[in-house]
Amino acid sequence: MKTVKDKTESNRGGKGFNALNLPVHRASTIVFDSTQSFLSRKSQLFDGFSYGLYGTPTTKALEEQIVLIEGGKRALLLPSGLAALTHALLAFLKSGDHVLVADCVYGPTRAFCESTLGSLGIGVTFFSAGADSVKALLTPTTRMVLLESPGSFTSEIQEIAAICEQAHRAKALVLMDNTWGFGNARLFEHGVDIVCTALSKYASGHSDVCMGSVTVNAEELYRSLKTFVTGMGSGVSSDDAYLVMRGLSTLEVRMAEHARRGLALTQWLRERHEVKAVMNPAAPGDRYFARFGRYFSSGNGLVSLVLKSRDLAAISAMIDGFRHFRIGASWGGTTSLVALGDLSNVRSVEPHPEGSYIMRLHVGLEPIELLYEDLREGFARLKAFDSRRAARTPKSAA
Ligand SMILES: *Cc1c(COP(=O)(O)O)cnc(C)c1O
Repeated sequence: MKTVKDKTESNRGGKGFNALNLPVHRASTIVFDSTQSFLSRKSQLFDGFSYGLYGTPTTKALEEQIVLIEGGKRALLLPSGLAALTHALLAFLKSGDHVLVADCVYGPTRAFCESTLGSLGIGVTFFSAGADSVKALLTPTTRMVLLESPGSFTSEIQEIAAICEQAHRAKALVLMDNTWGFGNARLFEHGVDIVCTALSKYASGHSDVCMGSVTVNAEELYRSLKTFVTGMGSGVSSDDAYLVMRGLSTLEVRMAEHARRGLALTQWLRERHEVKAVMNPAAPGDRYFARFGRYFSSGNGLVSLVLKSRDLAAISAMIDGFRHFRIGASWGGTTSLVALGDLSNVRSVEPHPEGSYIMRLHVGLEPIELLYEDLREGFARLKAFDSRRAARTPKSAA
């Protein structure tokens, strides 16, 4: 019974058909023209195609696009931002090595360093989130320095160029998580060797795909990494790569609008008496604004704030009633989001000066007035909660 036409024939594409968009190549099997080319397929690992998991024309096209945006030489896709970071760490570190990690890295990155790297016999030392130097912490076994600027939730910025110089003098590589600054930072120009980005955020831009990239500026780093990732059996689907590619086609206009809104919201929040601190390094007046200008060309839609209230029930009342800011992680899409973090347990070097709960807002692309209204009503719920509590509390105990 012959029910399917020869697949390889129809896969070569129809004559006279020229789609504007990138084709999605779904593949496990890739077929070869001869026994010889099949037997030597491993030679295709870095620049050709040998098996669907190791790359298709769709995933290659996205990797090339990532290199254009981040700079560097070669990029490699992984199934999530976290996977990009963990594969890069494991590819370049071995038992007995030492790694320096910024105190403000993404929570799961911190957990991975503490648990998995620790259990492999890789020494981990955290350093100050806003460090301008790591000189005193470099040891003869330090093989890597892990940066993240602006830091997750709290937006500290490390002095990237100075730290790269110190690390290189000690023969250590610098890996930086550039998820926040994707599209607005050229980190290789400041000395960074390996850039990891969660494409799940602004790159894809629609909250519907998880992916990460590792970009490097040297062919030898790429080859080590590609060999390691292949050995781990990690890869991405072309369907997902297509979604990220589609997101990238509007990246610039989306980012400009998110950044404009992020700045406006920062100013607006600074004037609210319920707010103790606002963090957005792209805004003039922010503690890290000068450093931001050295490394980033524009901001985004992320704004963190610490309320004067430290009362979880009151803060929850504010958040739970939001109609437009939805409660959730993984920012970068078109919907506004709110996420609550606890600053008291995410630091090991020094306590965060603001302590307490931190609220991270992601400004989406809804009509902006609706978002301000949502926040105004939220502050009213916060206040109502506080006055109800004051009414219930006897004066002597207050
Ligand atoms: C979201 C995020 C990640 C992880 O990305 P996933 O694709 O969700 O795994 C890593 N680093 C930073 C800074 C992030 O914000």
